Amino acid sequence: MSVLSAIIAIILFVGLFYLAVNHAKIKGLIGEKTLISILRFLDKNMYSIFNDVYIEHGQGTSQIDHIVVSKFGIFVIETKNYKGIISGSYKSDKWTQNIWGNKYSMPNPIRQNKAHLYALKSVLPNYAQLRCISIIAFSSTATLYVAVDEYTKVIYIRDVINVIKSYNEAIFSEEQVQEICNLISKANVIDKTVRNKHKYVVQQKVLSRNAQIAAGICPYCGAELVQRYGKYGSFIGCSRYPKCKFTTK
Ligand SMILES: [Zn+2]
Repeated sequence: MSVLSAIIAIILFVGLFYLAVNHAKIKGLIGEKTLISILRFLDKNMYSIFNDVYIEHGQGTSQIDHIVVSKFGIFVIETKNYKGIISGSYKSDKWTQNIWGNKYSMPNPIRQNKAHLYALKSVLPNYAQLRCISIIAFSSTATLYVAVDEYTKVIYIRDVINVIKSYNEAIFSEEQVQEICNLISKANVIDKTVRNKHKYVVQQKVLSRNAQIAAGICPYCGAELVQRYGKYGSFIGCSRYPKCKFTTK
């Protein structure tokens, strides 16, 4: 093989690999699959694991990546497969993903998971006072600079097991753990139609956001979007900046 064809082959391979790891859907799946296999390391006699749970409640359907139930508490885990520098606070609406100076906003995952906790509690009426442990687990391709509240752990996927095991004070009896597991199993919607409807609603939200941006309207506040020039080139931002911090490429 000539040097030239070898170089072309390498470029093609790197290009395809880049596309594969960047594809949003694949990215999400890799994160979830990784954590499913990591959670298997927990002692089955002490921890019950639920993956990809759908719960219907007053406001619609919530999809929860992972729930771990034990006598030490209920852990509600959201996985995020992101790269770059992730910064944000539990107080803000949006967090920022910074990849080589290009900034993208993402919904605050702490709030997102709070909605999941709320949905879960709606099916555990006897445990209304209970504080579930909210865990946001990022892939190691992300670098985290985040301010969290005392009830949330924003960590890397590889640290999930250790964080779960750090809770070692029993707060439930065996019977309570069993009851909680039964209630979650019962509430988990397995009907494909309902699951697909939830995915459809989420997709529609993304589409309408993209349509708004294409029409030059800020998806956060409805103001006009304008072209701006930063250190790293041009980008689209909200005309109400600094009041509204929406930016996109
Ligand atoms: Zn705006």
